[in-house]
Amino acid sequence: MLNATPRLRNTAQLYGIESGVESDVASGLDMGLNLSAAVTQESAQRLQLVELLSPHHPSETRFRLEAQTALAFKAMADSTAKDGIALAICSAYRPFDRQLAIWNAKASGKRAVLDINEQPVDISPLSDDELVDLILLWSALPGASRHHWGTDIDVFDAKQIEVKSLRLVEAEYTDSGPCARLHQWLLQHAKNFGFYFPFQRGKSAVSAEPWHISYFPVSQTLLPQFEVQALAQVIQHSDMLLKEAVLARLPTLVAEYVHRIAKP
Ligand SMILES: [Zn+2]
Repeated sequence: MLNATPRLRNTAQLYGIESGVESDVASGLDMGLNLSAAVTQESAQRLQLVELLSPHHPSETRFRLEAQTALAFKAMADSTAKDGIALAICSAYRPFDRQLAIWNAKASGKRAVLDINEQPVDISPLSDDELVDLILLWSALPGASRHHWGTDIDVFDAKQIEVKSLRLVEAEYTDSGPCARLHQWLLQHAKNFGFYFPFQRGKSAVSAEPWHISYFPVSQTLLPQFEVQALAQVIQHSDMLLKEAVLARLPTLVAEYVHRIAKP
């Protein structure tokens, strides 16, 4: 039905660089509106983003998604609704600058850095390399986040928990956590809509993230286009903290944290 996104001409988009991003098309879409017009436009060679207005958020909260991903997500949200689950977005497309702000806040100690058990760590005695490794457990390198592609979404069940209470920790998605039923539903049905979990325990260097789903038909075409050299350029020209430590072993970090992911 829908063609996979072909090789991008404007590769800056892969790294979240905004200049090449078409985000003005089909803006202001309610979850109920038809996105097909946006998708059938010539979207070859660029990532076409559309805006969704999520019904589960305070008014005017808009999320951007790659166009085919948005269509599939809408279909999946309709299906979860029939089972009494309110599939809602907590984070969707994220530009480089947003990821940079997250990274720098963690690198400077302004935002908590968590260990593998989701406990805050005192970062003051850590070497730069140790701090890089620690941040990467839960946050992507600016330029290397799958959220830059518009194909990856952090989700929650808006019927069970308000977004402002959501912490995005595993306990919320397992056992009797508020999003456990949603997670079970996704494990069973997400593949029917093209979505899967790229971050799983033992299968990805990034820690298990039961809230992070990816639209495989498009994201699988983007991953092979990701290039270490291009990312190095982007980082080199940014205000990223820990830049030298990251650039010194960028090929290894990309192999580990970008390419080593779970298969659908
Ligand atoms: Zn995520």
